Amino acid sequence: MAPDPRGPDHPGASWHPSPNSGSRRDGLTPSLIVLHYTAMDGAQAALERLCDPVAEVSAHYLIGADGTLWQMVAEESRAWHAGAGEWCGQADINSRSIGIELDNRGTHPFSAAQMAVLEDLMHGIMQRWSIAPAGVIGHSCMAPGRKFDPGPHFDWQRLARQKLAAEGGHGEGPQNASKQPQLFRNLARDAGFTADVDDSTLLQAVRLRYQPWLKGPLQPADFSPLGTACSWT
Ligand SMILES: [Zn+2]
Repeated sequence: MAPDPRGPDHPGASWHPSPNSGSRRDGLTPSLIVLHYTAMDGAQAALERLCDPVAEVSAHYLIGADGTLWQMVAEESRAWHAGAGEWCGQADINSRSIGIELDNRGTHPFSAAQMAVLEDLMHGIMQRWSIAPAGVIGHSCMAPGRKFDPGPHFDWQRLARQKLAAEGGHGEGPQNASKQPQLFRNLARDAGFTADVDDSTLLQAVRLRYQPWLKGPLQPADFSPLGTACSWT
C-alpha cells in the first residue's frame, strides 16, 4: 500500500503508515472510538508489530507512555484492532471505529503525559467525525471475556468529566441484586453490552468500564451505571 500522501489527520502525530488496513465496508464512517492497551514492552515494539504485515493487526493511533503520538492508518480507512465482538448489536466494529492503542502493559496506571495527548486526540477525532461521548468504548466492552483492555487502571471517570466518554447513570440497583442476573443482563444489553457471554463475563466487562474496584457477586452498585439506551450513532 502506498503511503498516504496527506500525512497524519491529527496535528502533532508522526505519520508511520501500516500496511494492515483497508476500506471501511458498506460505506461506513467512524462513529465509535475503541481504546486499547498494547500489553507490550514499550511503544517501539508495539509500533513495529502494528505495522508488521505478518501480524495482521493495526490501529489508527499509538500513544507512547511519554506522550509520543504516531498515526499508522488514515482515519477514513479501516484499521484492524477490534476483531470479533459487537457493541449495541452491531458487528464489524473495525468498519465503525477509530482504534487508539495506549502503550501500557495493563498492570499500572496510565501516565499524565499519555492521558493529555489522548484527550487532545479524542477531542479532534470526535469533532472531525461528530462522535458522541457514548461512542467511546473499551476493547473489553465489545469483546468481553476475550479482551480486557484498556483495563482496570484506565481512568474512565477522567474522560467522562471532559465529555470524552459517557457518564454512567446514577440509578439505584435492586436490594436483592444478587438474585437479579436477568435484570442486570437486560440493562447491560440496553447500555450496549450485547455480545453473547455468560453472566460472570458480562459482569466483569461492565465493571471494567465503570467500576473496576467492585468485587464479588452481583450487588446493587453494579446496576447504578446502567440505564442509558444504546444511542451512540
Ligand atoms: Zn485491544
